[in-house]
Amino acid sequence: MPPRIAGRNFLFVPGPTNVPDRVQRAMMVAMEDHRSSRFPELSRSVLNDLKKVFKTNTGQVFIFPSSGTGGWEAAFTNTLSPGDKLLASRFGQFSHLWIDMAQRLGYDVEVVETEWGEGVPLERYEQILRADKGHRIKGVLACHNETATGVTSDIAGVRRALDAASHPALLYVDAVSSLGSIDFRMEEWGVDLAISGSQKGLMLPAGLGILGTSRKALEAIAGAKSRRCYFDLGDMIQANASGYFPYTPALPMLYGLRESLNIIFEEGLETIFFRHHYLAEGVRAAVHEGWKLKLCAREPKWYSDTVSAILVPEGINAAHVIDVAFRRYNLALGAGLSKVAGKLFRIGHLGDLNELMLMGALAGAEMAMLDVGVKVTPGSGVAAASDYWRSHDPVPRQKVSREEQFYASHSTGSIHG
Ligand code: PLP
Repeated sequence: MPPRIAGRNFLFVPGPTNVPDRVQRAMMVAMEDHRSSRFPELSRSVLNDLKKVFKTNTGQVFIFPSSGTGGWEAAFTNTLSPGDKLLASRFGQFSHLWIDMAQRLGYDVEVVETEWGEGVPLERYEQILRADKGHRIKGVLACHNETATGVTSDIAGVRRALDAASHPALLYVDAVSSLGSIDFRMEEWGVDLAISGSQKGLMLPAGLGILGTSRKALEAIAGAKSRRCYFDLGDMIQANASGYFPYTPALPMLYGLRESLNIIFEEGLETIFFRHHYLAEGVRAAVHEGWKLKLCAREPKWYSDTVSAILVPEGINAAHVIDVAFRRYNLALGAGLSKVAGKLFRIGHLGDLNELMLMGALAGAEMAMLDVGVKVTPGSGVAAASDYWRSHDPVPRQKVSREEQFYASHSTGSIHG
């Protein structure tokens, strides 16, 4: 057995994220009957409140016991038929896996290969959509936050591209590592299917696939011939109508979700987005001004507020940095995946965290880099982050928005009380 390392493990992968103590406690419940007359109070409250996080009034949100990947599958199979054409861009491991799933499910994907470090190519999307006069493209895919490269794409821009081409395709958005951390506006941006999971901005363990659907997406179900069973939204819609699930729900996760939603509404969504940006800017200051390193994201417009993918200098294997950080300093950093394996390490900065927690990650990453021979100046990352955080407001200057006041006063609150 390796020697025990005292103290908490510093979990700085971009999901799963830290689960707040309140959420952990809320999940420690005795099992109960999910067909009881009381159960719908819980299910209805979380399903309704999730709509506020997705920012949809007219859409419907579904919860599957799965993960984000299950949400992808539910989105495709409920709205498409085999052979349907999709437009997608590949610029990281998650946009790649999503395309891979679409192909394995039998859809015909037009893939726009894009540099890893950039995001959805809006102009190219618009050209392709304009050229598709016969509207063969049934769905457009956009990965809002590519977790593998730390790149955020402009989803409102994808909607503009669709509208400019007067194209009726459904808009599918992977919001797995953006929902609840980076501004996401399902209804305003005309997103038809928004996929997320529990283990990122929602601050829960992995275990739930969460799917937001527009009216248009729900209407597409009737004509969708893809085979589906466990992920059939028809069954889910029927059961959810009375507050139940078509199978045994993951009860402790739902109690945890109730508490995480309470926490989100207490802080306020806009304040949460602001905090994520503020924390991310401190990390970026550490990378650029402190360590003099580069991010994988090529330009500021692509910078992600939930994860920074940091390129190590030539000749250094980023996997060694990650291994030393883990074994020696009890710090979990995210690995470089696939094409960028060994070239970068990632610091996840999403969920329930603050400056001092991130200082631990920056200090640990810096020590691990020094240990494996990266020539960074000791203390430089922490100093740059500290300079940034000390000179910027951690919360928005003006108080809570009207929207948040509305959500706070309409939050369904705790199921127990
Ligand atoms: N999409 C993105 C952007 C992700 O970051 C992840 C996981 O990290 C997934 C999809 C897959 O989600 P899951 O691992 O919850 O199935």
